[in-house]
Amino acid sequence: MVTPLNRIWHTKKCTECMSDFPVHKDWQTQPSQCGPCRLIAQKYVDAVEYLLKESASNASRETRQALLELVQEAGAIYQKKKLDGEDPRRAWHSVERKLAHTIWSDKNLRKLVLLTIKELKFQARGDARADKRNQNRSARLLNGTRRWSG
Ligand SMILES: [Zn+2]
Repeated sequence: MVTPLNRIWHTKKCTECMSDFPVHKDWQTQPSQCGPCRLIAQKYVDAVEYLLKESASNASRETRQALLELVQEAGAIYQKKKLDGEDPRRAWHSVERKLAHTIWSDKNLRKLVLLTIKELKFQARGDARADKRNQNRSARLLNGTRRWSG
């Protein structure tokens, strides 16, 4: 017998962006934020940059190419927003959110990025230099001065 979908999935309101998102009843930790917001909170852009580095990646060529295209598109949108006079930080946040939605809605990309976030965290834990690198990455994120976002 098939359990009706609404018995295993219910809807929660994201505490960050206030959108509704599905939560599975069997999940051990019930998230309070939607997928894209969780990606943003975990600094997913760092993972994306990491994946785009030739040597560092367990991503396939095709996946890396798909990511690269997304990132280039995001970079172009960011530049355009800045040229249009939008506040750079604001522009960056909207581009970051749009990219998070795109990645979250693609099953393969989502899996890969989540895995990489885990990997980077793991590295950071055991390695002071990695910690420093993570700090630098975070600083760049705050400044919105990423290589690809200008
Ligand atoms: Zn959200």
